[in-house]
Amino acid sequence: MILVLKQGVSREQVDQLCSWLTAAYGVQTSPIIGSSMTIVGLVGDTSGIPIEKLEIQDAVERVMKVQEPYKRANRKFHPDDSQIRVGDVVIGSDRICLIAGPCSVESEEQVCRIAEQVRQSGAMMLRGGAFKPRSSPYTFQGLKAEGLLYMKRARQATGLPVVSEITNPAQLELFLEFVDVIQVGTRNMQNFELLKELGRIKRPILLKRGFANTLDELLMSAEYIMSGGNTDVILCERGIRTFETSTRNTLDISAVPVLKSRTHLPVFVDPSHAAGIASLVEPLARAAVAVGADGLIIEVHNDPVHALSDGQQSLTPVAFDHLVAGLRPIAQAVGRSI
Ligand code: PEP
Ligand code: MN
Repeated sequence: MILVLKQGVSREQVDQLCSWLTAAYGVQTSPIIGSSMTIVGLVGDTSGIPIEKLEIQDAVERVMKVQEPYKRANRKFHPDDSQIRVGDVVIGSDRICLIAGPCSVESEEQVCRIAEQVRQSGAMMLRGGAFKPRSSPYTFQGLKAEGLLYMKRARQATGLPVVSEITNPAQLELFLEFVDVIQVGTRNMQNFELLKELGRIKRPILLKRGFANTLDELLMSAEYIMSGGNTDVILCERGIRTFETSTRNTLDISAVPVLKSRTHLPVFVDPSHAAGIASLVEPLARAAVAVGADGLIIEVHNDPVHALSDGQQSLTPVAFDHLVAGLRPIAQAVGRSI
C-alpha cells in the first residue's frame, strides 16, 4: 500500500504519520521525499488496515493498493530512478557505467594489467572472480582470498572500484574488506540465506538474473536484500536458458525496459555470459545501450585463448576499446553518455 501525501506536507507531519501507522497497524513505513511529491510505502501485512481511516488523515492525498509482491523494489514506491554511489562512480545516472575485467583473477600481474587497459578505454569498475561457481568440480575454482587481495591491489593501482562474486555467506567478512560491489551470480539468485545476509550489510550488490528465473522472481530476490535494509541493489540481465543452442544463453533484451518500468533500481546487461561467444559481445552491448541499460559488465582477458575460465567469450583489451568507441554514439542517441 502506498500513501501519496498532499503537496507541502512538512517533515514533521510525515514522521508523525509514520509513527502512527507503525503503532496502530504494526507495519513498517518507507517515506520517500521526492522532488515533486512525497509518498509513504507501507511494508508488512496491510490487509487489516481500513483504507477510509488513512484517506481522512490530514497529510494524505490518496491511497494506492500495490498488487505486486515486491514493495521496496517497486517503482510505485519510489518513482524516481535510484542512484547508487560507488566511490566516485554514480550508477543509474546519465553516464552509462562500464564494468570490465577477466572472468577469473589468475594472477596479480594479469589483473593489474587488464585493469589499467580497460580503465584507459573508459571502464569505470573492474570485475574479476575469485570464488568461481563452475559447472565442473574439475575446472579452475578461483584463487579465493588471494584473488580478492589481487583485486584490491588492482584498485590501488588504477583507482577502479572492484566487483567480485560471492558464493557463500561465510565469505562475507573477506568481501567487506576487499570488494566494492558484491556480485551474486546466476546460480545463487535464489540462495535466500545468502540474500538475507547481504541485506544486513551496507555494500552495493550486483544481482544477476537466474538463468531460469522470471523477472518477477528477480525482483523478489532484490526484495530479500532490500527488506533487510540494504537498498543498493543493481539488477543484471545475463541471458536465460532457451531451446536455442547458437548462443550460450539467450539475451532477454526486453528484460531491460520491462524492469525499468517495474523498478527504480539500476539495470545492467552482461552480454558476455549471454552470448558465450566473443564476436557477439559487441552487437549485444550495443543493443543493451540502445534499449536503456544503465551499465554493462563485460569480460576482458589479455590472452583469451589461455584464460582459465570463459576465454571463448572474453574480449581482448583492443576489442574492448573498439566496443567502447562504438557505444558512444549509441549512448548519445538515447540521451546518455559513456
Ligand atoms: C561471472 O560473472 O563470471 C559469472 C559466473 O556470471 P553468471 O553468474 O552470470 O554466470
Ligand atoms: Mn565468466
